[in-house]
This record gives sequence, structure tokens and C-alpha cells, in this order.
Amino acid sequence: MIILNDIAKEYTQGKTKVIVLNKLCLHVNYNENVGIIGPSGSGKSTLLNLIGLLEQPSSGNLRICNVDFNELKDEEKVIFRKENIGFIFQNNQLLEDFNVEENVALPLLINGNSFRKSISKANDYLHLLGISDRNKFKPGLLSGGEQQRVAIARALIKSPKILLADEPTGSLDHENTKIVFNSIRKLSKEHKIITVFATHNLNLVKLLDKCFLMEGGKLIDYNKNK
Ligand code: ADP
Ligand code: MG
Repeated sequence: MIILNDIAKEYTQGKTKVIVLNKLCLHVNYNENVGIIGPSGSGKSTLLNLIGLLEQPSSGNLRICNVDFNELKDEEKVIFRKENIGFIFQNNQLLEDFNVEENVALPLLINGNSFRKSISKANDYLHLLGISDRNKFKPGLLSGGEQQRVAIARALIKSPKILLADEPTGSLDHENTKIVFNSIRKLSKEHKIITVFATHNLNLVKLLDKCFLMEGGKLIDYNKNK
């Protein structure tokens, strides 16, 4: 479960204080996928970065899978993130020095697994995503949609409890948006991963379990039938 209570996030730049999140609350249950929509600059990425423990809230309480993050040290947060949280970004952030299977295997290699075992598991995930024939390619040779499928494989390979997807289809055409979105939704359900999906795309949001609109630093339950 993800439980956010009265989360605030402010940034100060010189004399300007920007309140991005303002007493925001969110509950996501085990095995649920939720969508966050809202205009650019409304705080979607800030929220995902807080849940992903990349940023600290200014105040409020954050619990993920029964861990209270007000009580964890920074090193413990890093370990929790490495073991439990997978990220997919709009820009896939694949490493051009490595081929596709190595990019996918990287989280396992960083966690100390053997090269052979990590590459073998990477190929299992590439197979699940229908791109096993691209495993020896450098990422730059793949289409945008294929690159995002590699990024999905990389995010899922360590079997995270939480998947955070920040506009992962934002730079894809209609057809690839469908493929990438359906892959994320299907795999996260099959692997029982809580998924938080930030997007501009209302048509996608309708297919998720719950949807919230980011407005005024808070999340408002969004009526999907609107
Ligand atoms: P979204 O993902 O919905 O487009 P963001 O979460 O990226 O929105 O940004 C929300 C607001 O927070 C923006 O006004 C942005 O300028 C501000 N912001 C984000 N990160 C920082 C930062 N590190 N320092 C100052 N302001 C920031
Ligand atoms: Mg954003």
C-alpha cells in the first residue's frame, strides 16, 4: 500500500516560494493501478519523485508497504528504493554504452547478481515485451516505442513492489502509446505491482483502477465517466 497524509512540498528559489503540493492525501491499495492527470507544472513529477523517495516532502507522512519514511535514514531509503521501486520516465534514460539486454540487466548487476543470471532474466523480460530479437542492439537503433518497452523491462526486472511511470507515453505516437500502456498495465497486474501512472492522456486514465486530477497541490478524485 501507498499512504500519503497531508504531504506538502515547497521549493524556494531566491525570494520566491513555490508551493507545489499542499496537504495532499493519497491511498493506493495493493495491486491497484492509479492515474494522475493534470496540466504541466501541476506537480505530477514532484509527487512521483516523493513516492519514489528521490525527494523529501517539506512536511507530512509517507508510508509505503508498511514502512514509515519519517523514521528511515537516507541510506535505508536508498536500499528500499533499489529493492522495491521501479521507474519509467518519458525520456527512457537508457545507456547508449550498453546494448539492450545489458541495459535491462543493470538493476540486477548493481544489486550484486551474476552477469549470466542477470542477462538471462533480462532476456525473459524482453521476451515478455515482444522485443527479444533486439537484445543485442544499442538502444539508439530502436524506435521510441521499442525503447520504452526496454525501459519497462528494466523497471520490472528486479520485481519491484511499486512501479512509477512518469508520462511514459508522452513522446510516442498513438499506436506505440497503446502498446506501451497495455504492456505496463498487463505486467503490473500479472506481477501484482502497485502502479502510479502520470499522464496527459485521458483515454488511458479511463482504463486504470482509479484516477486523480492534480489541482492546487491536491489530488481530486476524477470522475472517469465525465
Ligand atoms: P508536472 O510534472 O506536473 O509537469 P512538476 O512536478 O515537474 O510538474 O513541477 C511542479 C512545479 O514545481 C513547477 O512549477 C516547477 O517549476 C516546480 N519545481 C519542480 N522542481 C523544482 C525544483 N527543484 N526547484 C524549484 N522548483 C521546482
Ligand atoms: Mg512532469
